[in-house]
Amino acid sequence: MTHPELESGWREECGVVGLWAPGEPVTSLGYLALFALQHRGQESAGLAVTDGLHIDLEKGMGLIREAFKDRAPTLPGHAAIGHVRYSTFGSSSYANIQPILASFSGGLICLAHNGNLTNSRAVRHRLQQQGCTFQTTTDTEAMLNLIVYSQAQTVEDKIAESLRQVEGAYCLTIMTGDRLIGVRDPYGFRPLCLGRTSGGGYILASETCALDAIGADFIRDVAPGEMVIIDRSGVRSRIIETRPRLAHCVFEYIYFARPDSVIDGLSVWQARYRLGRQLAREFTGQADLVAPVPDTGIAAALGFAAESGLPYIEALIKNRYVGRTFILPDQASRQATVSMKLNPIRANLADRRVVLVDDSIVRGTTSARLISLLRKAGAREVHFCISSPPITDPCFYGIDTARSAELIAALKSTAEIKEALGADSLLYLSRPGLMAAVDDPGEKNMCTACFSGEYPTAVDEAENPRPEEP
Ligand code: AMP
Repeated sequence: MTHPELESGWREECGVVGLWAPGEPVTSLGYLALFALQHRGQESAGLAVTDGLHIDLEKGMGLIREAFKDRAPTLPGHAAIGHVRYSTFGSSSYANIQPILASFSGGLICLAHNGNLTNSRAVRHRLQQQGCTFQTTTDTEAMLNLIVYSQAQTVEDKIAESLRQVEGAYCLTIMTGDRLIGVRDPYGFRPLCLGRTSGGGYILASETCALDAIGADFIRDVAPGEMVIIDRSGVRSRIIETRPRLAHCVFEYIYFARPDSVIDGLSVWQARYRLGRQLAREFTGQADLVAPVPDTGIAAALGFAAESGLPYIEALIKNRYVGRTFILPDQASRQATVSMKLNPIRANLADRRVVLVDDSIVRGTTSARLISLLRKAGAREVHFCISSPPITDPCFYGIDTARSAELIAALKSTAEIKEALGADSLLYLSRPGLMAAVDDPGEKNMCTACFSGEYPTAVDEAENPRPEEP
């Protein structure tokens, strides 16, 4: 099935890296750092390396291993940027793989983007009226063209001027022959951090797990609205824009980021553990054990067990060679992989009342199948506990939470979802409980639009269709 809004390629989940490391093996470091970010995108990958004169860009479809099969960049260089991408099916084409490359008045420029712009159609239209042509359907190319067509004098001014014209979520790594630049949008929707490599160079990455993968030391998060410029003279910083509030994506903590990453000072694993503790406080039922939906439910289930005093017991085993169910282009393949991916442990389930902890319900496809698997494996009762509130609204900032027509909580009440999934009870974490667990009780720092429909930026209605009423 295709859908016009998806064909415009506006919804993506991605990871970015950037390396400035003269004298170090930047290609291998970039490859390893991207590998650590594979969970952020499994559909395509790209890596660009520069020696100052040339940029060698290699990209391909599939997991990093497949994407760079026989094709890793070979240019010895001092800087690199890379990207992993998952896009919804309408835009999964080779041409859309990042990083993307262009020439401008200062030479070659290469850009990788994590996030999603909410006004890219308007930006594209304006650029097209100025005679600019597009080779891809991505909002990333709109940003690159803004930079290329900018009349500002320096590359940094061109970038700053361009980014003031866009709205939405963007973390960028940008490379020219003589510098590496990292930028985070003024709301700080997506994560971006800066680290020091063992050879004295620098790394920018979506998550700290990429720094760990190459033995780099964490320096700090890139601040919302900040541009970090790295060149032969070291690191400089410049604030492009600020906003009265921040909007870090709370879903990074709930599901998307790797649990061993630390984002904006908060450990993802600890946030999930606290979500689980809070969930247990809100649970009023009776059960014999707590089991996670692996892997993303594990930390929350451990927190639930610690708080409730119930034993933590594995009930499902994951075939680790199957990818994330969502990161497949259609519903049919998503359904087939659920049973390939998770199998129940009958000995742990026979006649037991099970609290099954998962991070979120999106379409309900996985959840219904899991509950039925547990029942068939002998569970007497299944109490499905979710460490996030109901997802009622789509994300326009770079995470595929599906269209509202597919979001089960946009269409049904909690009681109806419980019935549809076949659970004995269904508990969603409360929004105050969620916000307390992520240290933002006043909702001043985090974006919770997928739970509330309150979008921190203007969302162009034509470009980003709003959810239909349930
Ligand atoms: P479903 O049963 O179809 O609602 O799928 C929910 C499962 O998908 C949960 O177990 C989550 O771990 C996972 N999930 C939630 N959000 C996403 C997302 N944006 N991309 C991929 N997987 C997701």
